[in-house]
Order: sequence, then C-alpha cells, then structure tokens
Amino acid sequence: MTTTNELRAEIDAFFDRVLPEVLDGHDGGSDATTVARAKAWRAALFDHGLAALDYPVAVGGRGLDAEHLEVWREASRGRMPREESVFGIGVGMALPTIRDHAAEHLAERFIRPGLRGDEIWCQMYSEPGAGSDLAGLTTRADRDGDEWIVSGQKVWTSGAHHADFAILLARTDWDAPKHRGITMFILPMDQPGVEVRPLVMMTGAAEFNEVFLDEARIPVDWVVGEVNGGWATAVALLAHERQQTGVDSMSGTADSRSKAGRSPIPVAQLRWLADRAGRTDDPVIRQELARLHSGEQIVRWLGARGVHPSIGKLWRTRQGRAAADLAAALAFPGGPAWDGSLTTERSVDDDYIAYHVLNCRGMSLGGGTDEIQRNTLGERALGLPREPGPGRDTPFSELPRN
Ligand SMILES: Cc1cc2nc3c(=O)[nH]c(=O)nc-3n(C[C@H](O)[C@H](O)[C@H](O)COP(=O)(O)OP(=O)(O)OC[C@H]3O[C@@H](n4cnc5c(N)ncnc54)[C@H](O)[C@@H]3O)c2cc1C
Repeated sequence: MTTTNELRAEIDAFFDRVLPEVLDGHDGGSDATTVARAKAWRAALFDHGLAALDYPVAVGGRGLDAEHLEVWREASRGRMPREESVFGIGVGMALPTIRDHAAEHLAERFIRPGLRGDEIWCQMYSEPGAGSDLAGLTTRADRDGDEWIVSGQKVWTSGAHHADFAILLARTDWDAPKHRGITMFILPMDQPGVEVRPLVMMTGAAEFNEVFLDEARIPVDWVVGEVNGGWATAVALLAHERQQTGVDSMSGTADSRSKAGRSPIPVAQLRWLADRAGRTDDPVIRQELARLHSGEQIVRWLGARGVHPSIGKLWRTRQGRAAADLAAALAFPGGPAWDGSLTTERSVDDDYIAYHVLNCRGMSLGGGTDEIQRNTLGERALGLPREPGPGRDTPFSELPRN
C-alpha cells in the first residue's frame, strides 16, 4: 500500500508540476469556460489517481484509508482550483450516496465518470412548498412499464444549467405517511420533459435555477435505495451535504479571492483589509479579527475530529456571516447605501468582498437553515423529544396543504 509520505510526494508533484500545465490555456470567465476548466482539472486529478482515495479500486478509486484522506486534506489545502465547486454536488454528495446505497449496476454506470468529472450532477430536493419541510414534497413519479414518469417543480437547484444528471426526490406513494412515500431517483437532464430556468441572485450571478418537470422519463431501475424508502437515502445525502458545506468548505481554493462563494472570507484577507483601512490599531477590529481567527481554527479542528455534520455547518455559517460583516465594515463604510459605484478605484478585491457580503446569507440556507441544523442536533444528537407537528403517521393524501 502507498505510504503517507509517498502520497504526500505524489500530491505535491501533481499540484506543482502537472496541474499548471493542464490548466494552461483554460481561462475562467463565462459559464462554458468555467465548466471546461473544471473538467480539465478533475480529469487530470482522476487520471493521476488522486480523485477518489477512499473509493474501491473497481470504480476508479485507490482503496486507501482515513489516514491517507487526512494527508490529502492537509496537502491540498488552498491549492485546488476554484472550479472544483462545479463538482460539489456530484463528488461531494451524489456519488458517495450511490456508492453506499445504490445497486451495483448504478455504481458501475455512474461513479467512474462522475469522479473523473465527465458528468456533472445537480440536486433536486427543494420545491416551492417544500424546503425545510422537505418531506412535504409533491413532485410525483408514477411507474409506466419500463419507466418512471415524473412531473412537478423544483427550485433553488444549484448548477442545473450545466448538469448531466440530477439526484431527485419524488413522491411515489400518496397514501403512505409523508416520510414513507418518497423515492430517490437518478434523472437524466437532457430530455424534453426537463426545463431549466435560471434564477439571478442578489450577487448578480445565476448559480441556481427553477426546474420544471413535465412527464420527464427515468429508466425503471435508476432508483437509489428502495422504492418508497427514499427518506433514508435523502438523509444520508444530507449528511454529506452538511459535511461539505460545513467543515470541508474551510479548505479554501487556490484563488482565495474567487467568487465561487463556498468558503468564508479567510482571516488573512480580513487582516489585509484592516491594513488597507488603517484600522489595525482599533481595539474593536483587533478583537473581531482574533475571534474570527479562533473560529477559523475551530472549524478546521471540528473537521479533523469528525463531529456531527450539523455542528460544523452551524460554525461555518456563523463564521461566514461574521467575516462578511467585518469585511463590509472595513471595505464599504457606507455599505447599506452602496450603489456599486462608491469606491472610486474599485479593485478585484472590492468585487470579491461585495460578492461575499451578499452571498453569505444564502450560504446559511443551502444544505438546511441554522434553525433546521439545531432541530436536527436536538432530536438526533441530544435525543430531545421530536418537534411537535401534525401527521407523521397520517397518509400524505389526507394532510392539509397550501
Ligand atoms: C445558495 C443556495 C443553494 C441551494 N441549492 C440547492 C440545491 O442545489 N438543491 C436543492 O434542492 N435545494 C437547494 N437550496 C435550497 C435550500 O435547501 C432551502 O433554501 C432550505 O432548505 C430552506 O428552505 P426554504 O428556502 O423553502 O425556506 P423555508 O423552509 O420556507 O424556511 C423559512 C424560514 O423558516 C424557518 N423554519 C422552517 N421550518 C422550521 C422549523 N421546523 N423550525 C424552526 N424554523 C423553521 C427556516 O429556518 C427559515 O428561516 C439552495 C438554497 C440556497 C440559498
């Protein structure tokens, strides 16, 4: 087996020598060039045996253990191109769920091309009437011979505009209680029954979408887990999502000024801003910087200790909002009234900070809001009584709906 020292040398060689050559000639910018750059990076990572250290060799992994994964985390910190976020849902959430819960033919079909970045994934959970109350979803899937026919509407679907496949939740039994009539499917996006409409966020970027499903088709055996047993696989995927949007998002990317939006503004960047604003002697600013530095370290240590993913997610969103608030105070003293033209010499840094100030609130919502993380911790980690609510055992068709 590869030793940890050998692995570290492999990783260093990849980032120092291989990757610059691979990315040479791939500029970011438009959505299409971002995707092309993302695919080039991911393919190189896979072809050099570094894309899936803990996956079985049969599906393109290395079959290595947790110690090796920790070496990867340390050695890759701050060195990954920002376009890795294109694969956040596939590599971070959908593929591990397929690996752990889907039938073998699905693992064989989807894991290798997903890990290599040849196929991009999105996540179709949320609906206009089902966000925090995800089990209230009303997108329906009905069996028709060798296919499932799916109709309904999804919303906030990140990356659906460039996705090849979606991990989809739909209701398959309306007479079962709401958690027991849901199935998880793999939906091919490129078909007439799938219409993707981009939503522009307050940052000006269109990172997520509405998706309208009108008799979209899915092969009958593209089910992850059991038919009507989708709540269990949905929760398994959410744990990966909270891990990823929580502690894993602190690793940073090579271009830390990226507008990819996943990591909180690093404290080093805030320190630089304090310098620029001539505020490094201000005791209130110094205190905030020290607090955020501690927060940054704590989220990393939480990651290393492997705590409940909701704890990491809560710490990370708190860190993201506090860092953005301090950045706004230092960079844009007239922030609330800012119309985009107040800084006379606006730099890439101001653009980056403005993006994060606007984006950090949304980052608290994606993957479940802070309130939902607290409910989860209360019920599942602390064993407190379940939140009161109507009808956990009532057939879904009999529940009152808007
Ligand atoms: C940037 C971003 C990306 C996203 N990407 C995706 C994606 O790719 N795929 C996808 O499926 N979804 C995605 N989402 C959707 C996200 O999962 C939902 O926004 C989130 O689950 C909250 O649901 P909601 O927006 O319907 O708010 P609601 O559920 O309507 O909540 C409104 C408010 O009520 C509070 N609340 C609701 N229920 C309770 C309760 N029981 N106890 C206490 N407080 C409660 C909430 O905390 C919140 O403050 C994304 C969202 C964002 C912002």
